Amino acid sequence: MLPIDPQADDGRRAWVACPRCDDARHCTPCQERRTCGEHWRYLLSHSGSTLHLQCPGCTHVGP
Ligand SMILES: [Zn+2]
Ligand SMILES: [Zn+2]
Repeated sequence: MLPIDPQADDGRRAWVACPRCDDARHCTPCQERRTCGEHWRYLLSHSGSTLHLQCPGCTHVGP
């Protein structure tokens, strides 16, 4: 697993499903696209429309 990026800040979160662990698949708030308290990803940075996200669960980095 990758280390959590030093830019990661839990004050900057994005509610985007993680493509690796897909842990939000069976979660009702996530499926309703609400701000789930369990499933979110660190918003590391964004350039244009590309978000750089990191999953706190599996540490996957990427869109
Ligand atoms: Zn993940
Ligand atoms: Zn959820």
